[in-house]
Amino acid sequence: MTEQSATLGPDARDPRYDILFEPVKIGPVTAKNRFFQVPHCTGMGFLRPRTLAAMRGVKAEGGWGVVCTEYNSIHPSSDDLPGVHATLWDNSDIRAHRLMTDRVHEFGALAGAELWYGGARSPNLYSRLSAMDVASLPNLAGHPFQTRSMDKTDIRNLRRWHRKAAIRARDAGFDVVYVYATHGYLLANFLDPAMNTRSDEYGGSLENRVRLIRELIEETKEAVGDRCAVAVRFKADEAIGADGVPEYGERREMFQILADMPDLWDINIADYSLEMGMSRFAEEGALEPYMSWVKSVTDVPVVTVGRFTSPDTMVSQIKRGITDFIGAARPSIADPYLPRKIEEGRPEDIRECIGCNICYSGDSLGVPIRCTQNPTMGEEWRKGWHPEKIAPKGAEARVLIVGAGPAGLEAARVAGARGYNVMLTEASRNLGGRVSREAALPGMSEYIRVRDYREGQIAKMPNVDVFRESRLSADDVFDTLADHVAIAAGATWRTDRFDGKAYVPVATNGAAVLTPDDVMDGTLPEGPCVVFDGDNYYMGSLMAEALADAGGQVTYVTASDSVAAWAGNTSERWRIRTQMMEKGIQIVTAHTLTTFDGAQAALECSYTGRVHTIPAKGAVLATQRTANDGLYHQILAKVQGDMSQLPFSLTRIGDCEAPSIIAAAVYAGYKFAADLDIVQDIDEPLTFDRMDVGADVPQPVRRDPAGMLQVDAAYLRTLLDYYEEEIGGIAYFQGLADICTDPDQKAKMTLLAQVEQHTADIVAPLIERYGLTPRSQDVLAAEGAADARRGPQDWGGLIAHMRKVFPGYIADFERLERMAPPQDLPILKRMTEHEVVAIAFLELEAKGAPDAIAPLQRFLSTPVATQAAALRTLRGGISPSGRPAPGPGCG
Ligand code: ADP
Ligand code: SF4
Repeated sequence: MTEQSATLGPDARDPRYDILFEPVKIGPVTAKNRFFQVPHCTGMGFLRPRTLAAMRGVKAEGGWGVVCTEYNSIHPSSDDLPGVHATLWDNSDIRAHRLMTDRVHEFGALAGAELWYGGARSPNLYSRLSAMDVASLPNLAGHPFQTRSMDKTDIRNLRRWHRKAAIRARDAGFDVVYVYATHGYLLANFLDPAMNTRSDEYGGSLENRVRLIRELIEETKEAVGDRCAVAVRFKADEAIGADGVPEYGERREMFQILADMPDLWDINIADYSLEMGMSRFAEEGALEPYMSWVKSVTDVPVVTVGRFTSPDTMVSQIKRGITDFIGAARPSIADPYLPRKIEEGRPEDIRECIGCNICYSGDSLGVPIRCTQNPTMGEEWRKGWHPEKIAPKGAEARVLIVGAGPAGLEAARVAGARGYNVMLTEASRNLGGRVSREAALPGMSEYIRVRDYREGQIAKMPNVDVFRESRLSADDVFDTLADHVAIAAGATWRTDRFDGKAYVPVATNGAAVLTPDDVMDGTLPEGPCVVFDGDNYYMGSLMAEALADAGGQVTYVTASDSVAAWAGNTSERWRIRTQMMEKGIQIVTAHTLTTFDGAQAALECSYTGRVHTIPAKGAVLATQRTANDGLYHQILAKVQGDMSQLPFSLTRIGDCEAPSIIAAAVYAGYKFAADLDIVQDIDEPLTFDRMDVGADVPQPVRRDPAGMLQVDAAYLRTLLDYYEEEIGGIAYFQGLADICTDPDQKAKMTLLAQVEQHTADIVAPLIERYGLTPRSQDVLAAEGAADARRGPQDWGGLIAHMRKVFPGYIADFERLERMAPPQDLPILKRMTEHEVVAIAFLELEAKGAPDAIAPLQRFLSTPVATQAAALRTLRGGISPSGRPAPGPGCG
């Protein structure tokens, strides 16, 4: 367990930051401090409640005073799938949310629920109910259908659904319940004078347009009574004016009507691409100019966001009366422990968000959230990963990591935190690999935080040695005498492009094409140039911008229909295109660069195949990358490709394994170090959080406060039962052998007894590790022998009896596997296997096959000791629930 808070406390806090830790009253409830995790999407919602609860719980543990859900649909006619949202539709939702609220309350935080009705933004593809909105509007997310215009009955129904959802939220244990009146959803459209064309009492005048929200605030307050506070999410401006100055329209007047009705205002702005701004385009605290007036109009507390990671900025915002709470989604994702680190006087340990919006891409793609800076995000439940705690090392070992990019740095940080003896080698002078290079590109400076955080942490670890300017060869790697080696040598941009089936060169007639690596090394083309983007994320646009900033005349070309197509998932591509246009970059979509001869570039249309040429003296290809896995293969070549002959474990991680985004490299680094002494079950590597119609609900990986893996008591009971059955089984089959008079039959029963013995030996390390105490050998043997005497006495009857009974045991063993933590599976699968081979023997025997015993012999030929590694893993710290967790090296 590595958790610095064990030695630090609130006394260590810098008094300048005391204001951040003042309790703040929100109507009937009180937040313990000013750190407020505002509602944010996770790609988990109602689909993965256990994963969600564990993730939100870690934030409460990390000191956030308020922890909210994502958007909660109040009724099936508001369904956002494939965008994963939460639901408050029925009692099942109450139970699911309880998982989260209980976890959040455990750490003294308040839990908040955002009630949501999508209106024209929700496609209802799952529920297939008609979406309703203030008028018949086209779907605002671009789907080819419209909403029903709400009549009076619809409005009455909506109010009832909202009220019922609020009561469910209260019953689920939430402390803050939101009325959600922004982000282009239904309530925002009622407020909007352009969209709200109604002629009844809900349309027309400002009073009328505000009416529905006023009713919902009143009714929600009445529904939740004194148990919960009611918050309203509201935007401070109407739009960004042509000159970049916010247009407030009627916002101030609307706000004045409602000003003191809720218990809390959660304020955001009209321009979502600024509110959710990438660091490439928006700085910390970017919302301040838009909402500086808000607090002057209301006496109830206000929360707003701004990608806050600096405690000084936070204090300044509060002291200057901009906000009462430090709202955060992304900073709480990148560092769930941000408040605690400030409180414990170690703000330099904050893992600062880099503003890349990879977290948002999970929501866009309908999958659980991931984060570039925090690889444990989303893995709290299924892997038991924690952003600040990790089990200490298993056996003593030396770990060599080659390459100090994001993957290598993270591997070194985590292996170091676990107490391993770590050598991190880097070919160049600078650490950081790709992030050091990419952070120098236009607008990318915050990406350097990926390096800085890790470099800062590693610098505090005496057990991690960093060797710069040390390009290692295969011989060097052997010379280090490491026990574990990770090759994290990154990847190199290619000079060709992938045409959908194969990598093909751009015909150049001898002219040189450049890659992003060349440009980042300082080689810029002269004269007009073309940038071909085959990567579709940010690099192509960055190349175009870098060249334009250097004075070049740039044409950006992509085969896709849009600029930086994948960056739509990070909400980035619209800003990218705007910025490129502002910089005078020519944009050509749906074309591929096929030929470049140093004077001209030929571009082929993706649809018609027609080719046109443009003048170009230079060409930069941002297409795919080649993994720098040469060293990995050179090492393997030393042992003729037989990895088992290496004196160390060898793993390639990050871009060196499979070129990907930075988040994937950091994740790979964490995984390498976290799994160093864990035997992987590559057949079933993950625990799934999903709807399960069976009785065996999947078990999460749990850790006790000391970071030790915990297992379920029912699992341990069953494990012990089955182990005892193996011991009893030895005597059972031996008893049958004694009864048999035929030498062949006697030998077969003896073999079955050996299989039981072998299985018991395989399982024994688990029994020993968990400190389980089987009944005495004598008692178990007596039971087994008695069973043998009770069963059929003739050979045919005996085989028939076993053929009938044994298949049922397979189901029992598989059930045990489902209850087990993943680390135990390699052993348990062998226990299941012993039953499989016994059944195979019985079937062959029933057919009179001469080689019936072959499956048994095969099983017996596999050594018990193959599980020695598993035993080492267990030594790394697995403790049964309720038992004291042994320290490293025990057992
Ligand atoms: P990733 O994103 O997977 O971490 P990067 O490309 O960012 O990969 O970083 C890889 C790092 O590995 C670079 O800093 C590079 O200089 C370094 N490197 C490559 N080959 C070697 C080697 N043989 N010895 C030491 N360092 C190496
Ligand atoms: Fe910040 Fe990027 Fe992590 Fe999102 S994914 S929290 S933007 S570092």
